This record gives sequence, structure tokens and C-alpha cells, in this order.
Amino acid sequence: MKFTPRYPSLNPKLYHEQMPAPLKGAKAGHFNEALADELQWSEQDKAEWVEICSGQKTFAEFHPLAMVYAGHQFGQWAGQLGDGRGLLIAQILNKNNQTIDLHLKGAGSTPYSRMGDGRAVLRSVIREYLAGHALNALDVPSSNSVGFTTSEQGVQREKLEPGAMMLRTSDCHIRLGHFEWINQYQPELLKEFTQKCIEWHYPECLKAENPVLAFATRVIQNTAVMIARWQLVGFAHGVMNTDNLNITGSTLDFGPYGFMERFRPNWINNHSDYNGRYTYQNQPSIAHWNLWNWLNNLIPLATPENKEQFKQELADCLEHFEPTFLENYTHGLCQKMGLPAFHKDSFDCGMAFLRIMQSEQLDYTNSFIRLQNKKYEAIKDDCLDRRQFESFLTQYENIRENQDTDTLDAEMLNANPLYILRNHMAQKAIEQAERDDFSEVERLFTLLSQPFTKQPDVERAEDLAPLASDIPEVMVSCSS
Ligand code: AMP
Ligand code: MG
Repeated sequence: MKFTPRYPSLNPKLYHEQMPAPLKGAKAGHFNEALADELQWSEQDKAEWVEICSGQKTFAEFHPLAMVYAGHQFGQWAGQLGDGRGLLIAQILNKNNQTIDLHLKGAGSTPYSRMGDGRAVLRSVIREYLAGHALNALDVPSSNSVGFTTSEQGVQREKLEPGAMMLRTSDCHIRLGHFEWINQYQPELLKEFTQKCIEWHYPECLKAENPVLAFATRVIQNTAVMIARWQLVGFAHGVMNTDNLNITGSTLDFGPYGFMERFRPNWINNHSDYNGRYTYQNQPSIAHWNLWNWLNNLIPLATPENKEQFKQELADCLEHFEPTFLENYTHGLCQKMGLPAFHKDSFDCGMAFLRIMQSEQLDYTNSFIRLQNKKYEAIKDDCLDRRQFESFLTQYENIRENQDTDTLDAEMLNANPLYILRNHMAQKAIEQAERDDFSEVERLFTLLSQPFTKQPDVERAEDLAPLASDIPEVMVSCSS
């Protein structure tokens, strides 16, 4: 590994140095060797992956640390939070010379654990491991993971479950909530911290007339792009608290997430989300709310004489959110539909297709694949309101008439995954892993590595359809 420690150069009030506390009887779960190669792990690092991913081996080049941050959880100020069960154990260069954080989740309690035990259970580790892998393969900016380990040590949740650790990789673990913590508890650190964030993550902004405003704009744009990509693949994060969004707009900290199956935009995938704040359909507006809330923490960077103007300029930065989101979403939806993005009726037609999926409770992923394969009759056969589908199809074919449909069809192939991580797929892999059989994790890992490519030898019928509507959903909730 090529170490490039930079977080430890920040003021020590922002973190607590601490060693991982390994679980008893740690054993291999799964290792992402391709990612380890990308991260320039040596043969020896790879040979020691179980020790590294279980907290038994740390590195002289980097002292593990827990970050402090704060946040708004479910819309309420939650005060100080922080890495309560994860440690930053290294910052290293990948093959592209980009700095990547290695964050060991489930590594034991820290001063920020509050009431928690500092641990993660195998179930939630496998969910995050597979989803991070799936999102990366779907080209959605996201954390990933080099590997996870399980253990013989039980961790108490509603029942006793196997404890586990996961080595997460991300281009950034600085959350919107870092700024909230600083603003609330150590405002004198704001200037230097912001400067470092710009240098590390948005160096191009240093050249701008006002680097802070340029930085704010880029954070807002990147977040809008990320949310557009979530919507397009049907990903619902489930816990979009301000402590779970980072400043680079790469997906972080997803546990109770869900990939949309039957199209229900108001689906509550996180069972701790009693009011449905974080449903799929709310994600763009919640991101906007989080960013608005975040911008307030930058106000103290104004000089006394330009405070009012600076406040207005920060508010103006937020004006970039909606157009960036809409442009990315519309473009992506048109690609998925095989429609020309410049045509005035394309977006409308896309919405009409989504309305059919919603009213007929059709599977989101499969409906696009059927459209791509021109299986119009098959879609219509699944519709109760066949006339609604017919009128959509007329509009659809009208728009495509006289267009370069070969190019549009080719774009569809790269925009419509065949495979997503359905909750019941993850659940089956978890149940087997809890019996020390990781073959289903391995199978899903392979399948989700190439979600756009048909893999007849790897896929199973269950991967291709939602559960029957009378089978109860898998229940997933926060912080397990
Ligand atoms: P999450 O909902 O997973 O993003 O977690 C919210 C906050 O609770 C973060 O500060 C976590 O570090 C902390 N947390 C979650 N689970 C645990 C746990 N088992 N032990 C200690 N802290 C935890
Ligand atoms: Mg979190």
C-alpha cells in the first residue's frame, strides 16, 4: 500500500486516535481482490487480508482514528455523533493516484459510541458489502469494500448474531455533519478545515475568485448527480441523515437501503423511518434540505463587512441543485427509455411509463429491460389498464419515429441493468453466511460485478423477479 495520511494533519480535536478491538475467532468472509489491486495492495497485504479486515493488523504508517461529527437525524438536530463503531485505519493512493480512505466498520467502541457497542453484525456488513459493490458496478458514485470478516463472537441485537467487520473504501469520509459539529462546538476550526476540504477534494476551486463558494457549488452539484443516479437505478438509501452524506457526493453509510422492485415511489424501505421521510421519492428534496442546512454552517466564513452578501451568495449556490439533478435525471431516463434527450416530449413519455409501472405495480428493473427488448406485449399483458399502456406506446413510438434508433437502442443496453440486489437475494446470502457458507455471497458478488451482462451460468430465476406480492418483505432498519 502507498500511504498518504492527511486526516491526521487536522486539529486533533477533530478525531480520537484509537486501535481496533478485534473480535474473537475472526474468519474470512469475502475479499474483493480486484479492488485490492486497484488500491495497490502488495502480495503480502493481500495474503494478510483477513488480519487487516478484522482489525488484527494495523499499519505503522497510519494511527487508526475515530472522526467526530454531528448531524441532523430524521430532520432533528442530534448533537455530537462520530465514528462510534468504525475507524479510519489508513489513507492510501490507488492506481490513479487518488487518495482512498480505508475505514474499518465494527472495530469496537470509541468515545463517540454513545449507547452503542461499537460493533456490526454479519447481516448488516453483508448488506453494505454487496450494495457498495453493486452501486460501483452500476456506475453510481459510492463507497465500496475490500473485504469483510466474520467471527465466533456474538453481538447482541434483537437476538444474538455473529459479529463482523468490513473494510470500507471511500474517496471521502468527511460528512456534511463534520461542518455541523465544527460550527456548534469548535467554530474556530472552520476556516482551516474548509481550506483542507477544498485542497483535498476540490483543488480546482482554489483558483476561483471565491474558493468557498466554488466549493459549495461543487458539493451541491456532485450530490445532485449522485441522487439522480440513485433515482435512475431505483436505489433508496434509507437513512439520508446529514451525517450519512459526504462532501464528494459518493454514497455512504447505507444499511437499511433498498433497490426498487415493484415501482412504489413512496416505499418505506427503512423500518425505523416511521414517517417515511427517506422514501425513494423524497430523496431529491431531502438532499436539498440537507445541503441547505449544510450551507448555513459556512456563513461564519464571511468577513464582517460582507456577511449579508455572502449569505445570499451561499443561498445562490443551492440554485444549482435542481437543474443539475433534473439534467442528469432526464438524460439518464431518456437513455433508459431509448428516447432522444433533446425531444420535447421525451421526459413526459418517461413519466408516463413510470406511472404505468406504479399503477400496475410492475418491477422497475424488468420493465425497462422489457422495453429495451421490445417486449411490449409482455408489458401490456401485465397491465390491468391496457389502454393506458397502448396510449403510452403510441406516444413512445411517435417520438422514436425518424430518430436514430440504433444509437438509442445501443444506449439502452448500457443504462438498464439486468441484475440489481433485491432484498431477498441479500437475505438468502446472509442466511447461508450465518451458517458459515459464503458461496451465495460469492455468487451475488460475481453477478453484480457485471449487472448489464447476461450471465446464464450465474443467474438464478429468483434474481430476476420480485417476491410474490403476498410474501412479507425483508425488514431492515437502522444501525445494526
Ligand atoms: P448510522 O445510522 O449507522 O449512520 O449511525 C448513526 C450514528 O450512530 C453514528 O455516529 C454511528 O457511529 C453510531 N452507531 C451506530 N451503530 C453503532 C454501534 N453499534 N455502536 C456504536 N455506535 C454506533
Ligand atoms: Mg452513519
